[in-house]
Amino acid sequence: MTYSYTQISQYLTCPRRYRHRYLDGWQEKDTRAAMLFGRAFERALAGYFLREDPAAVLFREWAACRDQRLQYSNSDSWDRMLQQGIQLLERFCQEDRVHIRQPRRNLQKKFSRAVSEKNDFVAYVDAIGKLDESRCLLEWKTTSSRYPEEPDGLLALDPQLVCYSWITDIADVAQVVFVRKRLVEVQYLRTTITDEQRQEFGQLVEDTIRRIESAQFLPHSGIRFPQNPCSTCPYVGLCLGQNELVKAGLVRRPGADLGWLDELNY
Ligand code: SF4
Repeated sequence: MTYSYTQISQYLTCPRRYRHRYLDGWQEKDTRAAMLFGRAFERALAGYFLREDPAAVLFREWAACRDQRLQYSNSDSWDRMLQQGIQLLERFCQEDRVHIRQPRRNLQKKFSRAVSEKNDFVAYVDAIGKLDESRCLLEWKTTSSRYPEEPDGLLALDPQLVCYSWITDIADVAQVVFVRKRLVEVQYLRTTITDEQRQEFGQLVEDTIRRIESAQFLPHSGIRFPQNPCSTCPYVGLCLGQNELVKAGLVRRPGADLGWLDELNY
């Protein structure tokens, strides 16, 4: 069995959610504009490093989603997101703080690691390169609001960065955050993950896989509103037995479990 960060993180959010997604085959419909825009934007970034015209790549990729019935949040629209994306690409190119050597090898780089005799773990890291001339692992994020930078050092607790540091054995990690707001902004956040954090993450992976293999899928008890994960969970219709909600948000694709492919979608 091949596991990924997304699988482990879904299980830790709520074991029942893991069961809905990976055992029963329910998946969210690809109608979230922000997510599809994020994918198109990442392809445009790849285009930039491969010396293509990133704005043209963004337009091409985002245009492919134009006629889908996308769900936009707040005041977003297809045109507005495109405009913000182009402004963000211009800002990123002008600032010129990130460099990737051999982009074909160092973008969307696959890493895998055995976690037991019969299981392995796979991750696709956005890039290995340099931020301000210093080598690090890089993750791209697109968002409509700034990532918090306080308290100091907060980024070192980001579980995805800890995971990628664990699987690559690279201590220096960074997130480049593309913030789509009225005045667009690119945040360059970097931190160092310690050996102890990497070791603990490895233990967390082994422990989570043990619980999955012993079929522990009780629903997470949740925390009261507004932190209750059920309020934003795509599987809430299944847990409430409400077919309308299920039909609106999910599609069932039972069959071979290729859950690790989610890594490429999030
Ligand atoms: S709705 Fe709540 S209990 Fe059900 S899968 Fe989602 S988080 Fe878990």
